[in-house]
Amino acid sequence: MQLRTKTLIALTLAHSLSVNAAGSTSTFELSLFYPQPYEYDNSINLSSEVVGFYRSIEVANDLFERKGVNLELKPTHVASVSSWTGTENVQTGRSDMDTGATAVETNVGDMAIGLFLPNGGTIGYGDHRKSSHYTWYPNNIAKIGLATNMTLGKGGDNSYPFVLSHEVLHSVGAMHDQAAAVRFNDDASGREDGYARTCDNGYGSLMTSVISTVPFAQMTISGASDCNTTPSANMVGFTNQYAPLAAEFEVGSRNNQTIRLTVTENINDQTFDFVAQRNDTSATEAMTLYIAGGAVYNGQNALAPQSIEFTSGQASSEIIKIDFNTVYGVFDQAHGEINSTYAVVVGQNEVQNKLVDVTAINTLWEPTITPDPDPETGTPNPDNGGGSSGGSTSLFSLLMLSCLYLVRRKINK
Ligand SMILES: [Zn+2]
Repeated sequence: MQLRTKTLIALTLAHSLSVNAAGSTSTFELSLFYPQPYEYDNSINLSSEVVGFYRSIEVANDLFERKGVNLELKPTHVASVSSWTGTENVQTGRSDMDTGATAVETNVGDMAIGLFLPNGGTIGYGDHRKSSHYTWYPNNIAKIGLATNMTLGKGGDNSYPFVLSHEVLHSVGAMHDQAAAVRFNDDASGREDGYARTCDNGYGSLMTSVISTVPFAQMTISGASDCNTTPSANMVGFTNQYAPLAAEFEVGSRNNQTIRLTVTENINDQTFDFVAQRNDTSATEAMTLYIAGGAVYNGQNALAPQSIEFTSGQASSEIIKIDFNTVYGVFDQAHGEINSTYAVVVGQNEVQNKLVDVTAINTLWEPTITPDPDPETGTPNPDNGGGSSGGSTSLFSLLMLSCLYLVRRKINK
């Protein structure tokens, strides 16, 4: 009887929370952990991984906003784990994040993401929640495994940058299909509509198990206006109900997205100049500047992480200068990909909130364009996907396509 009363109280609380939060946006703070040996591993570029983590958060927030999901993801921490060897995969590594000292070490934010090797074809592993967990473990930080060399995409118009949001929603209770979604409702008080369906565009929605086959610009969510012809699948409504509860996996918010990064195109010196500012100046600290873009398959799409030292009392860093030609190499690799070129600074206690798009600051570099023979199918355009890639580049591509169209019309006449 006591159990039953407790359940009822918890359910009433859950219900009132979701009603109170209707229309307002919930926030999940996400931490990122990686095996320390990755710092010396030539097959892993931490700039690609950290920028990819931020980029995946950006594309998730943009998708949620466009599709009516009242949820915002925020970065809150990036750190290495010294007990990991670098041989863990998304499944074994994720399990370790639930165990002993590693569980405590990775208990940061509402959800903690571990970067590991893929396990065969498995590139992500969420923390599968069920309805009863919200009653009995309401403040249990979710642990997620995510594959390396993936979050910036692998080239072409694919949805690898959405794998993070897919695993985040698994960790709220989402499933791939209807049969599994029924199992979420293990206490007969949960919903059964948190799963994927085929949308109006003919592609699977965000929770499909074959997410990487969905073109980046075609990604949507079941229950959104372009994916709601089967009333039983409604990830938008499901997420809006459970997100206010999952936002308390870590009680309260860290609100430590306080690093500001200023990037300047210094034409006199032919350098991009990076200056980071922090809030807490009480101690010496080494922060890290990560610059990457494009897609990971390019290889040369990222620069090595660079240390930024602060002395006690210092709020603004020294100027970090990087030659135009060095940064232009990344611009070249990113050109035509779904991602632009970005910079982000991460400290031990403070992080940057959003990426800075370095291509958008540039005024001198111009891409060498090889026009697509058929403007109808064109190269992937980040604006179609709602990404925030360099406006000048996109405009230039558009102009090129318009020119090509005029030429073709003339020839046809
Ligand atoms: Zn999945």
